[in-house]
Amino acid sequence: MLVGGLLVLPPAPTAPAGSRARHEFTEPHMGTTFRVVLYASSANEAARATQAAFARVADLDRVLSDYKADSELSSLGRHAGGPPVAVGPDLWRVLSAAQEWARRSGGAFDVTVGPLVQLWRRARRIGERPADGALASARTLVGHDKLRLDGVARTARLAQAGMRLDLGGIAKGFAADEAQAVLRAHGITSALVAAGGDIVVSGPPPDREGWSVEVALPPPLHDPGGSPLELRDAAVSTSGDAEQFVTLGGVRHSHIVDPRTGMALTGRSGVTVIARTGTEADALATAVSVLGPRRGVELVEATPGAAARIAREGPAGVERLESRRWKERGGRHAATRVP
Ligand code: ADP
Ligand code: MG
Repeated sequence: MLVGGLLVLPPAPTAPAGSRARHEFTEPHMGTTFRVVLYASSANEAARATQAAFARVADLDRVLSDYKADSELSSLGRHAGGPPVAVGPDLWRVLSAAQEWARRSGGAFDVTVGPLVQLWRRARRIGERPADGALASARTLVGHDKLRLDGVARTARLAQAGMRLDLGGIAKGFAADEAQAVLRAHGITSALVAAGGDIVVSGPPPDREGWSVEVALPPPLHDPGGSPLELRDAAVSTSGDAEQFVTLGGVRHSHIVDPRTGMALTGRSGVTVIARTGTEADALATAVSVLGPRRGVELVEATPGAAARIAREGPAGVERLESRRWKERGGRHAATRVP
């Protein structure tokens, strides 16, 4: 089955009677399909745990959504240019992680990119490039240094009126981590949670080394020789122009924006990142897309436990680049354990 560009392979043998059996559930959340595959000793146990995990994701969406006018994130946006605003624990964790990735990526990953994303979303709708003036004024509202977090008071402040946060590059990975935490609290130790193209797995299926996950990039990026990943206690995210793009003046524009130039990324690229958590993998995959192969791989190699594979269409065809850690594990058994 293909979900969000990722193919999750069914396990080879069926579990013997009396042991844990495979259960699978899907539900729409956060504008994508959330999928849970888990091993449990009864259908009841599986359903109860998954229901609680999905409820947690729905709660998070009510906090983190930039589409919902009554989300905590939207409310924070309405205070842009004003005094600091108290922030709840979930939004705090996501904003703190986002700021850390903004620093680590030199501003390539930046959740203050909202005003630019809005302009490019509209461009996608009407099929027209944003006006230069609109891009220039949106750029003055973007910059991670304009989002001020106070760790003691647990407040956030958007320094300029008109700023707008967009957690689209990190929220699904965070939600998948949190869904796994809920499953674990219900005694489920072998599960896969896929939030579109952001996947987090815990322990492997019975009698297996890991979860087989195949990243299925669209042509021409697809690598027919690529083998599935074998993952346990790890996360994998893909980022790229696979699903959301617009062609303007014959050039394909992605839904990822370079906050430093204001421009939507162009050209075909697919970035797959393995990391210790979904939050990390999600943010890193977006950051590497913006940074490009060379600086992107440097960032991945500086991140403990992370590995990446990048496919990018260039003048000479599709180039593929892998980080050192990916190569060492031959791709096939790339597995990263949560310490
Ligand atoms: P997907 O949403 O397809 O899984 P990503 O995880 O790469 O892909 O997130 C892309 C989304 O992140 C965009 O739709 C937008 O909401 C937001 N975004 C775009 N550019 C950036 C950026 N440079 N830094 C952080 N978030 C971004
Ligand atoms: Mg992302």
